[in-house]
Amino acid sequence: NDVLIEVQHLKKYFPIKGGIFKRTIGQLKAVDDISFQIHKGETLGIVGESGSGKSTLGRVILRLLDPTDGQIHFNGNNISTLTRRQMNPIRRDMQIVFQDPFASLNSKMSVGELVEEPLLVQTSLSKLERRQKALEMIEKVGLRQTDLQKYPHEFSGGQRQRISIARALVLEPKFVICDEPVSALDVSIQAQVLNLMKDLQENLGLTYLFIAHDLSVVKHISDRVAVMYLGRIAEIAPKNALYNNPLHPYTQGLLSSIPVINTDMESKKNREIFKISGDLPSPANPPSGCTFRTRCPFANERCSMERPELLEKENGHFVACHLYT
Ligand code: SF4
Ligand code: MG
Repeated sequence: NDVLIEVQHLKKYFPIKGGIFKRTIGQLKAVDDISFQIHKGETLGIVGESGSGKSTLGRVILRLLDPTDGQIHFNGNNISTLTRRQMNPIRRDMQIVFQDPFASLNSKMSVGELVEEPLLVQTSLSKLERRQKALEMIEKVGLRQTDLQKYPHEFSGGQRQRISIARALVLEPKFVICDEPVSALDVSIQAQVLNLMKDLQENLGLTYLFIAHDLSVVKHISDRVAVMYLGRIAEIAPKNALYNNPLHPYTQGLLSSIPVINTDMESKKNREIFKISGDLPSPANPPSGCTFRTRCPFANERCSMERPELLEKENGHFVACHLYT
Protein backbone atom coordinates (compact mmCIF):
# COMPACT_ATOMS: atom_id res chain seq x y z
CA ASN A 1 0.00 0.00 0.00
CA ASP A 2 1.60 3.24 -1.09
CA VAL A 3 -0.86 5.64 0.56
CA LEU A 4 0.77 7.68 3.33
CA ILE A 5 -2.04 10.09 4.22
CA GLU A 6 -5.72 9.48 3.86
CA VAL A 7 -8.41 11.84 5.12
CA GLN A 8 -12.06 10.84 5.02
CA HIS A 9 -14.96 13.26 5.47
CA LEU A 10 -12.76 15.51 7.54
CA LYS A 11 -14.49 18.44 9.25
CA LYS A 12 -13.29 21.24 11.46
CA TYR A 13 -15.98 23.59 12.75
CA PHE A 14 -15.27 26.52 15.05
CA PRO A 15 -18.01 27.91 17.27
CA ILE A 16 -19.00 31.52 16.55
CA LYS A 17 -19.62 33.42 19.79
CA GLY A 18 -21.86 36.45 19.95
CA GLY A 19 -23.97 38.68 22.14
CA ILE A 20 -23.10 39.97 25.59
CA PHE A 21 -23.07 36.44 27.03
CA LYS A 22 -20.68 35.20 24.35
CA ARG A 23 -22.92 32.28 23.59
CA THR A 24 -22.38 30.07 20.58
CA ILE A 25 -24.56 31.52 17.84
CA GLY A 26 -23.27 29.56 14.88
CA GLN A 27 -20.48 27.51 13.40
CA LEU A 28 -17.64 28.44 11.10
CA LYS A 29 -17.11 25.45 8.83
CA ALA A 30 -13.40 25.96 8.14
CA VAL A 31 -13.00 22.40 6.82
CA ASP A 32 -16.26 20.91 5.63
CA ASP A 33 -16.19 17.29 4.54
CA ILE A 34 -12.85 16.84 2.82
CA SER A 35 -11.52 13.50 1.57
CA PHE A 36 -8.31 12.68 -0.31
CA GLN A 37 -5.23 10.49 -0.28
CA ILE A 38 -1.55 11.35 -0.62
CA HIS A 39 0.76 8.64 -1.88
CA LYS A 40 4.28 8.03 -0.61
CA GLY A 41 6.74 10.38 -2.30
CA GLU A 42 3.96 12.47 -3.79
CA THR A 43 3.24 16.19 -3.44
CA LEU A 44 -0.36 17.27 -3.19
CA GLY A 45 -0.70 21.03 -3.70
CA ILE A 46 -3.59 22.76 -1.92
CA VAL A 47 -4.56 26.15 -3.29
CA GLY A 48 -7.10 28.61 -1.96
CA GLU A 49 -7.63 32.23 -0.95
CA SER A 50 -7.03 33.19 2.67
CA GLY A 51 -10.13 32.09 4.52
CA SER A 52 -10.56 28.97 2.37
CA GLY A 53 -9.55 26.71 5.27
CA LYS A 54 -6.32 25.36 3.81
CA SER A 55 -4.12 26.12 6.84
CA THR A 56 -6.75 24.74 9.20
CA LEU A 57 -6.85 21.58 7.10
CA GLY A 58 -3.06 21.22 7.48
CA ARG A 59 -3.21 21.71 11.24
CA VAL A 60 -6.01 19.19 11.67
CA ILE A 61 -4.12 16.55 9.67
CA LEU A 62 -1.12 17.05 11.98
CA ARG A 63 -3.48 16.89 14.98
CA LEU A 64 -2.35 20.36 16.07
CA LEU A 65 -6.11 20.96 16.04
CA ASP A 66 -8.68 18.28 16.83
CA PRO A 67 -11.05 17.34 14.02
CA THR A 68 -14.76 17.92 14.57
CA ASP A 69 -15.55 14.82 12.55
CA GLY A 70 -14.02 12.46 10.02
CA GLN A 71 -10.85 10.40 9.94
CA ILE A 72 -7.13 10.88 9.37
CA HIS A 73 -5.01 7.88 8.54
CA PHE A 74 -1.23 8.15 8.63
CA ASN A 75 0.75 5.22 7.27
CA GLY A 76 -2.25 2.94 7.75
CA ASN A 77 -3.02 4.03 11.32
CA ASN A 78 -6.11 5.98 12.27
CA ILE A 79 -4.71 8.97 14.17
CA SER A 80 -7.93 11.02 14.34
CA THR A 81 -8.77 10.10 17.91
CA LEU A 82 -5.31 9.60 19.44
CA THR A 83 -4.56 11.53 22.62
CA ARG A 84 -1.70 14.00 22.86
CA ARG A 85 0.44 11.32 24.53
CA GLN A 86 -0.41 8.73 21.90
CA MET A 87 0.47 11.24 19.17
CA ASN A 88 3.95 11.91 20.57
CA PRO A 89 5.85 9.05 18.91
CA ILE A 90 4.12 9.84 15.59
CA ARG A 91 4.89 13.57 15.69
CA ARG A 92 8.47 13.22 14.52
CA ASP A 93 7.25 11.61 11.31
CA MET A 94 4.96 14.56 10.53
CA GLN A 95 6.45 18.04 10.39
CA ILE A 96 5.40 21.49 9.24
CA VAL A 97 7.23 24.41 7.63
CA PHE A 98 5.46 27.71 8.26
CA GLN A 99 5.07 30.75 6.08
CA ASP A 100 6.93 33.24 8.20
CA PRO A 101 10.52 32.31 9.06
CA PHE A 102 10.76 35.50 11.19
CA ALA A 103 7.97 34.46 13.51
CA SER A 104 8.77 30.76 13.66
CA LEU A 105 12.43 31.03 14.69
CA ASN A 106 13.39 32.05 18.24
CA SER A 107 15.77 34.97 17.73
CA LYS A 108 17.69 34.21 20.94
CA MET A 109 18.81 30.79 19.74
CA SER A 110 21.74 30.16 17.43
CA VAL A 111 21.17 28.24 14.21
CA GLY A 112 22.89 25.22 15.77
CA GLU A 113 20.58 25.33 18.78
CA LEU A 114 17.53 25.83 16.57
CA VAL A 115 18.30 22.83 14.39
CA GLU A 116 19.30 20.65 17.36
CA GLU A 117 16.23 21.50 19.42
CA PRO A 118 13.81 19.00 17.83
CA LEU A 119 16.41 16.25 18.40
CA LEU A 120 16.74 17.29 22.03
CA VAL A 121 12.98 17.14 22.54
CA GLN A 122 12.14 14.06 20.49
CA THR A 123 15.18 11.77 20.61
CA SER A 124 17.68 10.40 23.11
CA LEU A 125 20.71 11.21 20.95
CA SER A 126 23.84 12.46 22.71
CA LYS A 127 25.02 16.05 22.37
CA LEU A 128 27.70 14.97 19.93
CA GLU A 129 25.24 13.02 17.80
CA ARG A 130 22.84 15.96 17.77
CA ARG A 131 25.65 18.29 16.65
CA GLN A 132 26.56 15.93 13.88
CA LYS A 133 22.98 15.58 12.64
CA ALA A 134 22.42 19.34 12.80
CA LEU A 135 25.57 19.93 10.79
CA GLU A 136 24.58 17.39 8.13
CA MET A 137 21.13 18.94 7.88
CA ILE A 138 22.38 22.51 7.63
CA GLU A 139 24.62 21.47 4.75
CA LYS A 140 21.74 19.68 3.01
CA VAL A 141 19.74 22.93 2.98
CA GLY A 142 22.66 24.82 1.46
CA LEU A 143 24.11 26.59 4.53
CA ARG A 144 27.60 26.22 5.98
CA GLN A 145 29.13 24.81 9.14
CA THR A 146 30.13 28.34 10.19
CA ASP A 147 26.44 29.34 10.09
CA LEU A 148 25.70 27.14 13.12
CA GLN A 149 27.06 29.81 15.50
CA LYS A 150 25.07 32.63 13.95
CA TYR A 151 21.63 33.97 14.90
CA PRO A 152 18.48 34.23 12.73
CA HIS A 153 18.73 38.03 12.32
CA GLU A 154 22.06 37.61 10.53
CA PHE A 155 20.32 35.88 7.62
CA SER A 156 18.09 36.90 4.72
CA GLY A 157 14.47 35.72 4.52
CA GLY A 158 15.37 32.93 2.11
CA GLN A 159 18.21 31.69 4.31
CA ARG A 160 15.96 31.85 7.35
CA GLN A 161 13.46 29.65 5.55
CA ARG A 162 16.33 27.21 4.89
CA ILE A 163 16.91 27.12 8.65
CA SER A 164 13.20 26.40 9.26
CA ILE A 165 13.35 23.61 6.70
CA ALA A 166 16.44 22.14 8.40
CA ARG A 167 14.59 22.21 11.73
CA ALA A 168 11.60 20.42 10.20
CA LEU A 169 13.68 17.77 8.44
CA VAL A 170 16.33 17.00 11.08
CA LEU A 171 14.02 14.39 12.64
CA GLU A 172 13.83 12.59 9.29
CA PRO A 173 10.04 12.84 8.97
CA LYS A 174 8.05 10.95 6.35
CA PHE A 175 5.47 13.67 5.80
CA VAL A 176 5.87 17.45 5.68
CA ILE A 177 3.18 20.07 5.47
CA CYS A 178 4.53 23.15 3.75
CA ASP A 179 2.21 26.03 4.70
CA GLU A 180 2.97 28.79 2.20
CA PRO A 181 6.73 28.41 2.80
CA VAL A 182 7.70 30.88 0.08
CA SER A 183 4.85 33.41 0.28
CA ALA A 184 6.82 35.81 2.49
CA LEU A 185 9.91 35.68 0.25
CA ASP A 186 10.95 37.85 -2.69
CA VAL A 187 9.88 36.36 -5.99
CA SER A 188 13.54 36.02 -7.01
CA ILE A 189 14.20 33.83 -3.95
CA GLN A 190 11.02 31.75 -4.18
CA ALA A 191 12.26 29.50 -6.99
CA GLN A 192 15.51 28.73 -5.12
CA VAL A 193 13.65 27.61 -2.02
CA LEU A 194 11.11 25.63 -4.07
CA ASN A 195 13.94 23.88 -5.94
CA LEU A 196 15.65 23.09 -2.65
CA MET A 197 12.41 21.60 -1.28
CA LYS A 198 11.99 19.51 -4.39
CA ASP A 199 15.59 18.21 -4.20
CA LEU A 200 15.20 17.40 -0.51
CA GLN A 201 12.00 15.53 -1.26
CA GLU A 202 13.77 13.33 -3.79
CA ASN A 203 16.86 12.76 -1.68
CA LEU A 204 15.05 12.10 1.60
CA GLY A 205 11.96 10.34 0.24
CA LEU A 206 9.52 12.90 1.62
CA THR A 207 5.80 13.24 1.02
CA TYR A 208 4.45 16.81 0.89
CA LEU A 209 1.18 18.59 1.38
CA PHE A 210 2.05 21.95 -0.13
CA ILE A 211 -0.28 24.84 0.72
CA ALA A 212 -0.30 28.04 -1.34
CA HIS A 213 -2.68 30.86 -2.20
CA ASP A 214 -2.06 30.82 -5.92
CA LEU A 215 -1.69 28.17 -8.55
CA SER A 216 1.65 29.38 -9.91
CA VAL A 217 3.59 28.50 -6.74
CA VAL A 218 2.51 24.84 -6.59
CA LYS A 219 2.75 24.20 -10.32
CA HIS A 220 6.29 22.82 -10.44
CA ILE A 221 6.40 21.04 -7.12
CA SER A 222 3.01 19.26 -7.18
CA ASP A 223 1.99 15.92 -8.65
CA ARG A 224 -1.68 16.63 -8.02
CA VAL A 225 -3.43 19.84 -7.04
CA ALA A 226 -6.60 20.46 -5.02
CA VAL A 227 -8.40 23.81 -5.19
CA MET A 228 -10.24 24.77 -2.00
CA TYR A 229 -13.13 27.19 -1.65
CA LEU A 230 -14.84 27.94 1.67
CA GLY A 231 -13.79 24.72 3.38
CA ARG A 232 -14.45 22.35 0.52
CA ILE A 233 -12.58 20.97 -2.47
CA ALA A 234 -13.84 22.54 -5.69
CA GLU A 235 -11.57 20.49 -7.93
CA ILE A 236 -8.74 17.98 -7.53
CA ALA A 237 -6.72 16.51 -10.38
CA PRO A 238 -3.31 15.42 -11.59
CA LYS A 239 -1.27 18.56 -12.24
CA ASN A 240 -1.36 18.60 -16.03
CA ALA A 241 -5.10 17.94 -16.15
CA LEU A 242 -5.76 20.77 -13.72
CA TYR A 243 -3.60 23.37 -15.46
CA ASN A 244 -4.42 22.41 -19.04
CA ASN A 245 -8.06 21.51 -18.63
CA PRO A 246 -9.49 23.21 -15.52
CA LEU A 247 -13.15 22.25 -15.11
CA HIS A 248 -14.37 24.29 -12.16
CA PRO A 249 -15.18 27.95 -12.93
CA TYR A 250 -13.19 28.96 -9.84
CA THR A 251 -10.07 27.13 -11.04
CA GLN A 252 -10.53 28.69 -14.48
CA GLY A 253 -10.71 32.12 -12.87
CA LEU A 254 -7.63 31.49 -10.73
CA LEU A 255 -5.66 30.40 -13.79
CA SER A 256 -6.70 33.43 -15.80
CA SER A 257 -5.02 35.66 -13.24
CA ILE A 258 -1.63 33.93 -13.54
CA PRO A 259 0.72 35.92 -15.78
CA VAL A 260 1.32 33.92 -18.94
CA ILE A 261 4.95 33.22 -19.83
CA ASN A 262 5.59 31.39 -23.15
CA THR A 263 2.69 29.04 -22.86
CA ASP A 264 1.06 26.90 -25.51
CA MET A 265 -2.32 27.65 -27.09
CA GLU A 266 -4.13 25.05 -25.04
CA SER A 267 -3.51 26.74 -21.70
CA LYS A 268 -3.82 30.23 -23.20
CA LYS A 269 -7.38 29.44 -24.15
CA ASN A 270 -8.24 28.69 -20.55
CA ARG A 271 -6.79 31.92 -19.31
CA GLU A 272 -9.14 34.12 -21.22
CA ILE A 273 -12.36 32.84 -19.72
CA PHE A 274 -12.91 35.33 -16.92
CA LYS A 275 -11.41 36.96 -13.89
CA ILE A 276 -12.88 36.26 -10.48
CA SER A 277 -14.50 39.37 -9.10
CA GLY A 278 -15.63 40.20 -5.59
CA ASP A 279 -14.38 38.97 -2.25
CA LEU A 280 -14.59 35.58 -0.63
CA PRO A 281 -17.96 35.48 1.20
CA SER A 282 -17.74 35.24 4.98
CA PRO A 283 -16.96 31.61 5.92
CA ALA A 284 -19.29 32.17 8.88
CA ASN A 285 -22.21 32.82 6.55
CA PRO A 286 -21.60 31.04 3.24
CA PRO A 287 -24.07 31.18 0.31
CA SER A 288 -26.60 28.35 0.02
CA GLY A 289 -26.15 25.61 -2.56
CA CYS A 290 -22.84 26.06 -4.36
CA THR A 291 -20.84 28.43 -2.19
CA PHE A 292 -19.06 29.82 -5.28
CA ARG A 293 -22.31 30.95 -6.93
CA THR A 294 -22.00 34.61 -5.80
CA ARG A 295 -18.87 34.96 -7.95
CA CYS A 296 -19.63 32.46 -10.69
CA PRO A 297 -20.58 33.74 -14.19
CA PHE A 298 -22.32 30.43 -14.95
CA ALA A 299 -24.51 30.25 -11.84
CA ASN A 300 -28.11 29.19 -12.43
CA GLU A 301 -31.10 28.47 -10.23
CA ARG A 302 -29.98 24.98 -9.35
CA CYS A 303 -26.72 26.39 -7.97
CA SER A 304 -28.51 28.26 -5.19
CA MET A 305 -30.60 25.23 -4.22
CA GLU A 306 -28.30 22.27 -4.37
CA ARG A 307 -24.73 21.80 -3.24
CA PRO A 308 -22.62 20.13 -5.96
CA GLU A 309 -20.84 16.95 -4.92
CA LEU A 310 -17.21 16.31 -5.81
CA LEU A 311 -17.49 13.77 -8.65
CA GLU A 312 -14.94 12.10 -10.91
CA LYS A 313 -15.22 13.54 -14.42
CA GLU A 314 -12.14 12.00 -15.98
CA ASN A 315 -9.46 9.65 -14.70
CA GLY A 316 -8.52 11.05 -11.27
CA HIS A 317 -10.00 14.45 -12.16
CA PHE A 318 -12.76 15.41 -9.70
CA VAL A 319 -14.92 18.52 -9.81
CA ALA A 320 -17.80 19.87 -7.69
CA CYS A 321 -19.95 21.83 -10.16
CA HIS A 322 -23.43 21.36 -11.62
CA LEU A 323 -22.17 22.18 -15.12
CA TYR A 324 -20.89 18.61 -15.26
CA THR A 325 -23.87 16.70 -13.90
FE1 SF4 B 1 -20.87 27.97 -10.82
FE2 SF4 B 1 -23.08 26.55 -10.38
FE3 SF4 B 1 -20.78 25.31 -10.93
FE4 SF4 B 1 -21.16 26.51 -8.59
S1 SF4 B 1 -22.27 24.75 -9.36
S2 SF4 B 1 -19.36 26.62 -9.86
S3 SF4 B 1 -22.36 28.30 -9.20
S4 SF4 B 1 -21.94 26.66 -12.29
MG1 MG C 1 -2.83 30.36 5.90
